[in-house]
Amino acid sequence: MTRISPEGASPAMAQWFALKAENPEALLFFRMGDFYELFFDDAVTAAAALDIALTARGSHASEPISMCGVPVAAAPAYLARLIRRGFRVAVAEQTETPVRGRPSKGPLARAVVRLVTPGTLTEDELLEPGRSNLLLALVQGAAAGRGRRARDSGRDSTRDGANPAQAWLGAAWIDVSTGLFETARLTGRALPALLARLDPAEILASSGVELGDYAMRLAPERAPVPTESARQRLAAAFGVASMEAFGTFSDEETLAAAQAVDYVRRTQAGQMPRLAHPVPQNDGGVLSIDPATRASLDILRARDGGADHTLFAALDRTVSAAGARQLAEWLASPLTQVERIAGRQAGWLWLKDEPVRAQSLRDALKKAPDMARALGRLSVGRGQPRDLAGIRDGLGAARDAAAALGGGQAALPEILQKAVHCLGGAEGLRARLGRALAEHMPAKLDDGGVVAPGFDVELDEHRSLRDDSRRLIAELQGEYAARYGMASLKIRHHAQLGYVMEVPVGAATRLKDRVELILRQGTASTARFVTDELASLDARIMQAADKAAQREKALFAGLVADILAESDLPAVAQALAVVDVLQSCAVLATGGTWCCPSVTDDTAFRLEGCRHPVVEAALPAGVRFTPNSCDLAPEYRIMLLTGPNMAGKSTFLRQTALAVILAQAGFPVAADRAHIGVVDQLFSRVGASDDLARGRSTFMVEMTETAAILNQAGPRSLVVVDEIGRGTATLDGLAIAWAVLEALHSTVRCRAIFATHFHELGRLVDTLPRLCLHTMAVREWQGQIVFLHEVLAGTAKKSWGVHVARLAGVPAGVVDRAGRLLRELERAENTIPEPLPLFEAHKAIPTVPENTLGQRLMDIDPDTLTPRGALDLLYELCREARQQADGVEQSFQS
Ligand code: ATP
Repeated sequence: MTRISPEGASPAMAQWFALKAENPEALLFFRMGDFYELFFDDAVTAAAALDIALTARGSHASEPISMCGVPVAAAPAYLARLIRRGFRVAVAEQTETPVRGRPSKGPLARAVVRLVTPGTLTEDELLEPGRSNLLLALVQGAAAGRGRRARDSGRDSTRDGANPAQAWLGAAWIDVSTGLFETARLTGRALPALLARLDPAEILASSGVELGDYAMRLAPERAPVPTESARQRLAAAFGVASMEAFGTFSDEETLAAAQAVDYVRRTQAGQMPRLAHPVPQNDGGVLSIDPATRASLDILRARDGGADHTLFAALDRTVSAAGARQLAEWLASPLTQVERIAGRQAGWLWLKDEPVRAQSLRDALKKAPDMARALGRLSVGRGQPRDLAGIRDGLGAARDAAAALGGGQAALPEILQKAVHCLGGAEGLRARLGRALAEHMPAKLDDGGVVAPGFDVELDEHRSLRDDSRRLIAELQGEYAARYGMASLKIRHHAQLGYVMEVPVGAATRLKDRVELILRQGTASTARFVTDELASLDARIMQAADKAAQREKALFAGLVADILAESDLPAVAQALAVVDVLQSCAVLATGGTWCCPSVTDDTAFRLEGCRHPVVEAALPAGVRFTPNSCDLAPEYRIMLLTGPNMAGKSTFLRQTALAVILAQAGFPVAADRAHIGVVDQLFSRVGASDDLARGRSTFMVEMTETAAILNQAGPRSLVVVDEIGRGTATLDGLAIAWAVLEALHSTVRCRAIFATHFHELGRLVDTLPRLCLHTMAVREWQGQIVFLHEVLAGTAKKSWGVHVARLAGVPAGVVDRAGRLLRELERAENTIPEPLPLFEAHKAIPTVPENTLGQRLMDIDPDTLTPRGALDLLYELCREARQQADGVEQSFQS
């Protein structure tokens, strides 16, 4: 923005300059009457972004001042467009009301009452109903392994070091619109996965934190990291003596949490929204899914950025926005603790077996407004009458939902029992709101009619006085009409004159001798008179209406205070969301095409009749999806999958990964039967793309991602990879694929599906005992290929690439030529004793022995060993290690 000196500015513009200086990074919405005006460069930027007229108003430093404006009533829609385009807006309101008749000295006082930023929104117009809207604060702490205040055993075992990927980070995320507040402590290496999981709308971070693609969401200002007293300030914000009341927070988490809270307070101009107390998320109970995996699986967003062809869309049967948000949250962070998964399953299985209760529950939930977001708006003073109604109706729906679940009488699984308990909360408030609020709410408090008749004696008195006087006016009209013998006489309210008696101009001459009538105004068609009687009635009505409005505002404020003081409300809103997700699962599982998976604490893995729900939904009418089984039992935990293009390999890989996500989120799985030993990290590399924006070729991206898998995956992980090594020369590619397959088998020792066009890799089945071979079935018919989409044991005999090229519409001449070339190449290859020199050498290359030593180490529980036992074991392991090393050396020499 061009720097413009405020010198010589008019008083109003001097005010603008002062407010702009406080918020240099934001567009300043400067309230002037019924408009928000923007000036100078702000006006130029906003006019272009909003496609509105750019004009000029007055001049400054001999230059016209650029200006544009938006009506206050339409501001939310304009704000939404600006926020979506990445702008931030500071809203400056008049903080003083003009007093009629009193001349003002200088412009009315104005102040920025809010900074609208992407991560601190509360208005429905600016938010997506079914998604959280998170502000994430990240604070860099000591190198991992040091500076830990809290107990953190078992978490992120990175060692000390200066590497930023290993430094501790404190993370705190807040959804201002619902009050959600969570924290975590993690290493820099784990940050990309957290970012991909949370998908924050706005990030606060110091310059050293590597945000990758998310750097675009960094707030322009760097709120200073609070040095001392973060704990006390945070505790004070939540009205507790110590943060320990809410759990154990590391120093980094505390700093991040304090930073997030400070920022939220600043954006709301000092007003603190109601936030849930922070909940540390360091239990390690979440399936780790890195960003590349999320991108390849279209979980919440498809690769095109849309929400239609996603796992979420295929799964979602929720009936409320809060339920949809909860579903998205669970889907984004599947669990690793078998008991918690089983808890969720028990909830929806019960509902599935109780269809009548489930239907009543659904009926109740459909009537539940978004309580969490209404509460968010009320807590920052932005609540409207419909938000009060939202809380009232939400509490009503909660009561009905609890009743549908048996009201605490039915024998319920724990998750539903807890929900019923929470749904019954805030009973007193529900009754009070029920009595206090009118059935139909006006859009704005100023419209009146928020409070129900009979709730407040004083309000009723003002209202009846006001309404009585209106009745008196009506009577007076009849009386005057009779008295002056004019049926066309009317008493009307006029903005400037108040109540006046209106008669046609032609009839007015008949009244000129009436001394009690004072002519106030004459127009071409009517004459307007007042009388003492009318003037005094007018004053009474004004006064009563004024008093009624004042009283109603006071009652509204009282009800808002009651709502904010009700500590049960967030739990009620959360319980409604949870039961909505559970009923959604029950609907899905009804009908037999989605099953309840068995999730166990081992490395079992078997899917029977499994489908890809998104691909299945996208198939044309009449085309049936072919279900497939997938067995990665410990004895053959690595599957080598071959088959032509378009045969369904990617679909099979993805559906297997999706089954894990669904099962561990506690949801039904699109399969006949599923048994999954808990996966701790999921890696999916299917459908690679280049990353030209960051200067990385397809092959470079592929190798970087392969490196990430080999460095991070472990025996509890599931890896599904497609065509490793395709982007380089055949021999290089084959060699890389071979080495990666061996490493997955013998070093990482994970469960994996490895899809490839290198059919030669099938020979590794002789040397890698846990490898099993599968292929996509195709049928050849009259020289054409038919894809059966079925996964069978074995290896593909042919690649069928030329046939697929024909299907894709490659010109016939090119396809024919390719076919002839292929036949010649195959003939030539068959005359060579070994198809590829690499495989000739293969016999001489020892395969990596199974890492039995690693397994032994993992099996040891040091806490159960005696000192003597530990020493013996150490000797034994050293001996074994030497023997293994000798074995490898000998096999290399032979
Ligand atoms: P490529 O190697 O070219 O990526 P692919 O073998 O990975 O191909 P997919 O992308 O998985 O093939 O599948 C191609 C198309 O085949 C899908 O878009 C879908 O329409 C159909 N398809 C895949 N699997 C099945 C299935 N099990 N049942 C029915 N149709 C399927």
